[in-house]
Amino acid sequence: MSKSFKTFLKHTAKDYHNQSVNPPVVRASTIIFKSMQDIRKTQKKAKKDPTGGHYDYGRQGTSTTHILQKILTKLEESYHVFLTPTGFGSVFLSIFSIVRPGDEILVADPVYSPTRIFTENFLKEFNIKSIFYNPHDLKTLEKNITKKTKLIFVENPGSNSFEFLDLGKIVSIAKKKKILSVIDNTWATPYFFKPIKFGFDMSIVSATKYYSGHSDVMGGSLAVNRKVFNKVKAAEKITGLRLGPDDAYLITRGLRTLDVRLDRHQENAKKIAGFLSKYKNIKLLYPYKKNSFNFRMWKKYYSGASGLMGLNIKAKNINSVKKFVNSLKLFGYGYSWGGFESLVLHQEFRETGNRKFMNLSKNEHLVRLHIGLEDPKDLIEDLKKSLKHIK
Ligand SMILES: *Cc1c(COP(=O)(O)O)cnc(C)c1O
Repeated sequence: MSKSFKTFLKHTAKDYHNQSVNPPVVRASTIIFKSMQDIRKTQKKAKKDPTGGHYDYGRQGTSTTHILQKILTKLEESYHVFLTPTGFGSVFLSIFSIVRPGDEILVADPVYSPTRIFTENFLKEFNIKSIFYNPHDLKTLEKNITKKTKLIFVENPGSNSFEFLDLGKIVSIAKKKKILSVIDNTWATPYFFKPIKFGFDMSIVSATKYYSGHSDVMGGSLAVNRKVFNKVKAAEKITGLRLGPDDAYLITRGLRTLDVRLDRHQENAKKIAGFLSKYKNIKLLYPYKKNSFNFRMWKKYYSGASGLMGLNIKAKNINSVKKFVNSLKLFGYGYSWGGFESLVLHQEFRETGNRKFMNLSKNEHLVRLHIGLEDPKDLIEDLKKSLKHIK
């Protein structure tokens, strides 16, 4: 990433309101105008320049959310960025904007489990068919395209199993068949991969994770190109999905250090991966081992890797894996990730959803690690002691 972008992240959202370097948190439902003509003037401006931050009512946002949208639009190199109250709100908005009863949608098999539940169960009730494709065999995607297919949903890497997909191939299939595409880019963020520039129509990031970076706020962003802007704008308006100004402020504050944090998450994760790669009973689910398909696909499209990884642990005794996890002292037990701190989860099979294309044998166990900003030496020491329990 260029120096100027790092500088932009530090100097962005300067406001100097009352001489303060940070922008004010503007909370508003009603926006007061000088006259009725003034309201009409603003509404006209909003129609002409729909991304320009001309608002007549608080549901459309305030200057606080507009600042965040401007920063993210630059980070994504997109036409516009919509903000939602959670990351999953952006998943919902991307799909709700595009598909209608009778349509079909192609979904990567290892998507985030709420995305799976929404597409597989809820959409069916609206007569929308979801077909799941194998992330490592795109023939299962191509052969399922019909005249009804409206959207290809990608998540990269796969949730919990961390498969890297051939993104170039997916985008070229989508373009050839004139189908819209969306990617959940929460793992990498546009700091390491820019989906809209690459050719996706929409890109989702859960701002709850690395954007906020401090595990104290929830939010989502949906970046779009010009082609889908009007569709998403209309859907956004009717769903009432809106990020509050306090959350927007915290996310803007987190973004100032996004580059510094992600660089360090990557550095720490690489050290942990190097340490774990010496264990013969652990298959690392992280782009570390050169020549593997996942590594090649990551290297081809990404400029870096974040701090979230999986371990596929071979062990006869599941209780020994649980003991390993429970013995860790520096890793917190909890959901979410992307904050400053290290986290661990033992993944029960049921949490991986109804996957069609993942076969874990009885002796394989999934553990997810989020590598935080602690001293990696301490993290390695902690892991080393606890890994002794695995049998
Ligand atoms: C966390 C997450 C989401 C949902 O984000 P929330 O802010 O928790 O709603 C969506 N996709 C991925 C890949 C995530 O990790």
